Amino acid sequence: MKILHRKADIIDATKAWQSEGETVCLVPTMGNIHQGHLALISKARKSANRVVVSIYVNPAQFGTGEDFDSYPRTLNDDCAAIAAGGGCDAIYAPVSMYEAMHATSITPSGVALPMEGQLRPHFFTGVATVVFKLFVHIPADFAIFGEKDFQQLAVIRQMVKDLDINIHILAHPTIREADGLALSSRNYYLSTKERRLAPKIYKQMQETTALLKKGVEASIALKQAKEKLHSAGFDKIDYYDLRQLDDLQPCNRPTENSRVFTAIWLGSTRLIDNCAL
Ligand code: AMP
Repeated sequence: MKILHRKADIIDATKAWQSEGETVCLVPTMGNIHQGHLALISKARKSANRVVVSIYVNPAQFGTGEDFDSYPRTLNDDCAAIAAGGGCDAIYAPVSMYEAMHATSITPSGVALPMEGQLRPHFFTGVATVVFKLFVHIPADFAIFGEKDFQQLAVIRQMVKDLDINIHILAHPTIREADGLALSSRNYYLSTKERRLAPKIYKQMQETTALLKKGVEASIALKQAKEKLHSAGFDKIDYYDLRQLDDLQPCNRPTENSRVFTAIWLGSTRLIDNCAL
């Protein structure tokens, strides 16, 4: 498993594999590797001959007052976890993705506008710009993203389509703890009490989807869910909506093509999750 830090080295490695007729799959991450990331890496290994895992905490996707400084940076442990989980061909861990005078960004619209885009206006510009740059550093055949960050996946798919980028985007379902909490690097911020409460998010989403499937009106099911989450002890709900998947706009009528999406605070930790019908 090569560990590369320089753009020229990862471009050379990727092109050398491809010149031998091998396919390459990129797994972009911010590190602090957990079973969710390992599931993506495992799917990547099945999808391509070579797998590159990028590890980079991207400053451009954090806003003022967000957790950029405290975000866990655990490169040595990450390399060990990836090796123990079956490995990959190269880990790309650039020191920085931006030159001092960096002045060009990609600002996605469409599916990037609601939810995270509305609440964190810097976020998808940061994500799209760094992912585009990663696609240049690793001109892979495939890249894989988790449904845990469903809107991010939709934004990347839209960017690839709109900008004619020659890469296939793969998706992986959300990996959860046994109690239903979606794995996330941000779960490590939770206190013991908050961690006990956190699985309620997914349980509530499952309850909501069950009610919707029974025909309960969306506005009623969603209102009831928010009330239950507040009374369970969740401080603030940024959103808890039913949305259609093509444009991520809210909808009242559940279909197979809709999901419940939430962003919710537990103390100072903001968690996101989504649940298919
Ligand atoms: P991150 O390191 O949090 O930026 O995540 C890197 C990639 O792993 C993204 O495509 C995420 O959607 C994906 N990911 C993170 N957590 C999970 C999870 N619990 N299940 C599946 N994919 C995940």
